[in-house]
Amino acid sequence: MRVEVVAVGTELLLGQIADTNSQWLGEQLAANGIACHFHQHVGDNHDRIVLAFRTALARSDAVIVCGGLGPTQDDITREAIAEIMNVPLERNEELVEAIRAMFNSRGRQMPQNNLLQADVPRGATIIPQRRGTAPGLICPVGQKVIYAAPGVPYELTEMFERAILPDLKARTGESSVITSRVLRTWGASESGLAEALAERFTELTDDSRVTIAFLASGIEGIKVRVTARGQDAVHAEELLAAEERVVRSILTKAYGDIIFGVDDETMEFAIAQRLIDQGLTLGVAESLTGGLVASRLVDVVGASMWFRGGIVSYASEVKFDLLGLEPGPVVSADAAEEMALGVRRALKSDVGLAITGVAGPDRQDGHEPGTVFVGWALGNETGSSQLRLPGDRPRVRAYSTISALDVLRRVLDGQR
Ligand code: ATP
Ligand code: MG
Repeated sequence: MRVEVVAVGTELLLGQIADTNSQWLGEQLAANGIACHFHQHVGDNHDRIVLAFRTALARSDAVIVCGGLGPTQDDITREAIAEIMNVPLERNEELVEAIRAMFNSRGRQMPQNNLLQADVPRGATIIPQRRGTAPGLICPVGQKVIYAAPGVPYELTEMFERAILPDLKARTGESSVITSRVLRTWGASESGLAEALAERFTELTDDSRVTIAFLASGIEGIKVRVTARGQDAVHAEELLAAEERVVRSILTKAYGDIIFGVDDETMEFAIAQRLIDQGLTLGVAESLTGGLVASRLVDVVGASMWFRGGIVSYASEVKFDLLGLEPGPVVSADAAEEMALGVRRALKSDVGLAITGVAGPDRQDGHEPGTVFVGWALGNETGSSQLRLPGDRPRVRAYSTISALDVLRRVLDGQR
């Protein structure tokens, strides 16, 4: 079973919007072990959409088309599918009522144009809308199929999960269960991870029931996704757990403790877990990050249990006056440690975390932009890490934020 994605919309070709739908669909298909060899972009032009469908059906078993199901003149996906199926469009009265009801429930009159969304190619199955007005369609073409979904991302994702994916799975005929887990890493490059896992990759053949993939996610580090396909849920879970152990041990051997969470767990979540486990509270002093660290920490629900607060000590005098630093250079390992001690004192927390550095573009205290010191104070101990971070000012600040949290994570794990 090979699936092809066709994204319809002239604005995609003109670069006015990014095609996040195809990206998301690609990720979902991969996670479910469904092969997808081609993505197409096509503008709002009848002949070219038809050509895109013919091309797709010639080399793939199923086509997912997104966009062009709306009520306006340029929404012509329905017509193109009808031509491919060689059938007429027929107005579906139940859909007319559903669309009318949708408008009524929002207290609005239905424009006549919206009736076009009730036109269905003869022989197609309707996927009812839950979030917008345009219904989705399942359109058989011989032994193959075209799924039509709206372009609005949150309508598409809901419809894909509810109707398209189950239908695709039913067609593959394989009653397997696919499960996956994302290991979130910080501190190694994608190429570094790939190198460490290269040998494992070669061991996993096409028949293996597990796959490994990388997802670079910018300032959130690199994600490693392990996917397993089992005969049932228990089998899939066993395979996944076994492969996760293998991947963890390879990565730990190569790079140490770089996995900070799984799936949706963020770096700040990792911090929260550790502070709660150890019954500690935290205060932060921030210079170049200007409150970004504090902001990430309060993203965690229930942060008031362990987060005392933060001081944005941006001006040097504030570091001297509020945090008790000796007047002198403020971008140094000593300054970072003094700031951590100072904020711990000022905010009466158990742990102090501090960050000072050069965001750029200019040098400061003899340091290049991207030079950052993270200081910490816990119990009788203090320490600091010096970092060299790449990029322009916004990137240096974003990297500094997650790096500081990662330093703290390791400190709380006893890696001092
Ligand atoms: P509607 O019923 O809302 O008109 P539609 O099926 O006609 O939906 P489009 O008109 O093509 O879809 O797109 C609606 C909106 O959805 C676009 O303005 C755009 O913001 C978003 N969109 C469309 N295609 C994509 C895509 N491939 N990736 C991300 N967003 C998209
Ligand atoms: Mg539209």
